[in-house]
Amino acid sequence: MEFKKCPRCGNFFHSDMDVCQNCKTNELLDMRKLKDYIETNGTKGCSNIQQMAVDTGINAKNLNRLFENDEFSGIVKLDNK
Ligand SMILES: [Zn+2]
Repeated sequence: MEFKKCPRCGNFFHSDMDVCQNCKTNELLDMRKLKDYIETNGTKGCSNIQQMAVDTGINAKNLNRLFENDEFSGIVKLDNK
C-alpha cells in the first residue's frame, strides 16, 4: 500500500481506496449517481462533462476522475481520449 493524496479533499491517506476515509461516503454516492445516470440516459451524455455535472450534481473534476475508474472506464469512452 502506498501513501496517496485524496483527490477530493487533498488529505494524505493510507488505503486501498481511491479516496480518503472522510470522502469515502461521498465518493460512493457519486459513483451511485453516475451509474444511475448512465443506466437511465446511456453514455451519450458523457462526452459533455459540464452538462453532466449539472444533471448529476457531481462536479466535473470528480466526473473526469470517476471515468478513469475501472467501474466506468469500460463503459465510458470519452471522445477526447
Ligand atoms: Zn478526502
